[in-house]
Amino acid sequence: MHISNRLNSLKPSATVAFTEKARTLKQAGHDLIVLAAGEPDFAPPRHVREAVAREAFEGVTRYGPTPGSLEAREALVEYLERTKGLHVSANQVIFSNGAKQALFNALAALIDPGDEVIVLAPYWVTYTAQVELLGGIGRIVVGESSRGFKVTPEQIREALTPKTRCIIFNNPSNPSGAFYTADEVRELTEICVGAECAIVSDEVYDMIIYEGGPYLSPAVVSDKAGELTAVVGGFSKTYAMPGWRIGYLAGPEPWIKKVIAFQGQATHHPSALSQAAALAAMTGDQQVVEEMRQEFRKRRDFLLDAISGIPGLSVEVPPQGAFYLLVGVTELVEALPDADGSNDVSLWLLEEAKVALVPGDVFGAEGFVRVSYAASMEDLERAVQRLEEAVGKLGL
Ligand code: PMP
Ligand code: GLU
Repeated sequence: MHISNRLNSLKPSATVAFTEKARTLKQAGHDLIVLAAGEPDFAPPRHVREAVAREAFEGVTRYGPTPGSLEAREALVEYLERTKGLHVSANQVIFSNGAKQALFNALAALIDPGDEVIVLAPYWVTYTAQVELLGGIGRIVVGESSRGFKVTPEQIREALTPKTRCIIFNNPSNPSGAFYTADEVRELTEICVGAECAIVSDEVYDMIIYEGGPYLSPAVVSDKAGELTAVVGGFSKTYAMPGWRIGYLAGPEPWIKKVIAFQGQATHHPSALSQAAALAAMTGDQQVVEEMRQEFRKRRDFLLDAISGIPGLSVEVPPQGAFYLLVGVTELVEALPDADGSNDVSLWLLEEAKVALVPGDVFGAEGFVRVSYAASMEDLERAVQRLEEAVGKLGL
């Protein structure tokens, strides 16, 4: 059988693959602590679960509109207005099977083979994979750790070429937890708008920020920015419902119209059950969101303190949002006889400390490993103890 060149060169998602592998080992009886996947360990809010159950018994079981029900879209319009001051209408939004599909849809509407997309490193693995799948070229701009893993306006100016179709902006960032302040967002947005460069703004962690706020979406920087920006949003992180696969895209009508046509041919609307969940999440009590944020913050503070105290591991940049921490492991790479980079360090930690962490190289962050602290405090405490013991044996 002939497999297309496009898919032949596609690698599975490293974050997903790593997590699945670690979980399989755990299920087979290995005593592992898995801090790999970026998914909240909380259950979705009770009122959201009840809404899904109600929908299952009394709701829609037939096909619906491709972008999602009008009721859910109108609730999203209101939610975007309330949470980020974004003014859009119901025909400027579309629900998809997770933010991941929303992102792919947004890119598919923009990129032709050979087009360039600016990707800020450290980046979420899926950005470069999706760009390449569409025949695009990811132009990586590195946010150095010495600058808090953030890129400078000059770097963006230099990366823009006549072939640039868009920039993928992710604030706060997976995997670094870096947070761009409102002033920084304004400056970067204006540069992109000046170059007529579209912005795909991945805002799935917008509700999980610890300091540096308020949050500013590039889409609300100016009218012109609104015409060039599509916001990717989700429910997996904010409402702890990753398995229900629902996210959205909100943007200019011509862009969204094409995305609706594409999704209508590719997958149609996301499950009515998940739309009911999203609707309940957006319209229900938001206190749960704040409670989860506080809990993530406690865990971050604990990890920052505990990991900085382990010789051989370093934390250069305290994360200001999301639920990840990039831990510097260059000393370990040097200390381990056969280690070539962060991938070998991750494998060693899996073997010796029985802690599963994702190597930084998959995020364009060689020299680091990513810790997801979307895990119980008990697991985090045990993981730190194990890391301390394993790394301690190297006598660094
Ligand atoms: N964007 C970022 C930065 C992410 O970390 C994730 C996590 N999977 C997503 C998008 C996609 O989220 P989902 O598809 O679960 O809504
Ligand atoms: N976004 C999460 C992560 O980075 C979930 C897995 C994925 O879809 O990549 O771990």
